[in-house]
Amino acid sequence: MQNKSIAEMAADLRLRSYSSVELTRHYLERIARLDPGLNSFISVAAEPALAAAEHADRAIAAGTAGPLAGIPIAHKDIFCTSGLKTSCGSRMLDRFIAPYDATVVERLAAAGAVVLGKTNMDEFAMGSSNETSYYGPVRNPWDPTRVPGGSSGGSAAAVAARLCAAATGTDTGGSIRQPAALCGVTGIKPTYGRCSRWGMIAFASSLDQAGVLARSAADAACVLDEMAGFDPRDSTSADVAVPDYVDSLDEEIAGLRIGLPKEYFGAGLDGRVAASVHEATKELERLGADVRDISLPNSPLSVPVYYVVAPAECSSNLARFDGVRYGHRCEDPRDLEDLYKRSRAEGFGAEVQRRIMIGTYVLSAGYYDAYYLKAQKIRHLIADDFQRAFEEVDVIMGPTAPTTAFPLGAKMDDPVAMYLNDIYTIATNLAGLPGMSIPVAPVDGLPVGLQLIGNYFQEARLLSVAHRFQRATHWHLAAPEGFQ
Ligand code: GLN
Repeated sequence: MQNKSIAEMAADLRLRSYSSVELTRHYLERIARLDPGLNSFISVAAEPALAAAEHADRAIAAGTAGPLAGIPIAHKDIFCTSGLKTSCGSRMLDRFIAPYDATVVERLAAAGAVVLGKTNMDEFAMGSSNETSYYGPVRNPWDPTRVPGGSSGGSAAAVAARLCAAATGTDTGGSIRQPAALCGVTGIKPTYGRCSRWGMIAFASSLDQAGVLARSAADAACVLDEMAGFDPRDSTSADVAVPDYVDSLDEEIAGLRIGLPKEYFGAGLDGRVAASVHEATKELERLGADVRDISLPNSPLSVPVYYVVAPAECSSNLARFDGVRYGHRCEDPRDLEDLYKRSRAEGFGAEVQRRIMIGTYVLSAGYYDAYYLKAQKIRHLIADDFQRAFEEVDVIMGPTAPTTAFPLGAKMDDPVAMYLNDIYTIATNLAGLPGMSIPVAPVDGLPVGLQLIGNYFQEARLLSVAHRFQRATHWHLAAPEGFQ
């Protein structure tokens, strides 16, 4: 059952080949048996999932079911879920139960999806390996000695291991695409503002965007169809009509102009990953696309710009966790200052503290102009590069990450080496563009991701190009040993 597409599962449920309760029990059994070796879930919600599945079965029988009725999914633990813990991977929120559902959670519930649980993640979504989680690292199902990527590492590993049909993720600098690449799944980060951020715990508000990790572009389209759309509760939500992503999957590739930025194939890229990416673009050429070289001259500046902008915004967003309102509070504070200091020192891990310190530094008087303001200016140049490129090409492609999954612990002592993992994904967030990662030929048995970047609100185009590629290839069907 776990290898079926979402459309197949939905059809089976309607034909009563099995019920959603049976499907949900099947996934819960897989999670109980297989997840102890992966740690991809922070919490599993067996009882509520079975209740939702029963409800979906009744709705299917009554003919009132939504498009995702009875399909078992998981949410990254950054989305608020009423009645179910939302930790954001942090000790700070270890006991936090949100009083409401995030819009994304609400919409997927309204479509009938069954929530199996909440997936592990880097603390407050800061990381590229899932090792900054308070709940311990996630292991990559393709090789448990390696990282799954991050910060949506739990969602990526759970989808790759077939522990859920799809999972939500968030992407501030690559956190959907990079773990999708490292775990061999399909991930899409929509245009900034396409999915509501309401109820999604904020990291860097001008960059954060919700999206989907699934086993194929077609599955991702089924979920994104239900997630995307305007939300008056999010002031940055885009009031732009959402096309039907499933209906657009079969768009022709012939004549599609694909640009390969030369900056995405330079030093630092593993040659075998490059070869695999080139092989994939050749396949797209065979399908009728026109592939050419382009340049995004300011893209080498995206990592330094991001590591000014993202920490600045995070230092402001995370100021709310002060031990007073909600979240972790230290024992027996002596006075207010002691309460703030110890609650935050105990509640936040090392990487989060590092970012808060960088953020407050770049925003402080005397440094603001030199760092924050300058970074914002370069951010514009980076976005302009993309607009120039989109005058010549329809989709930009390249590697999602410079290497395959690295061993657990390999980069934990070197934050800059860790940050460089997102070198190809970050510029997209700085510009607010949609990006996607799909599996291509593996290297030494480890997955490799091809990144697709589109112009604003062109998720349908990315999904259809990915779908055409996946109809012609089989990389997305491969399952890790022991999880088939
Ligand atoms: N890895 C990047 C970071 O650590 C991006 C994280 C993300 O997209 N949430 O900030």
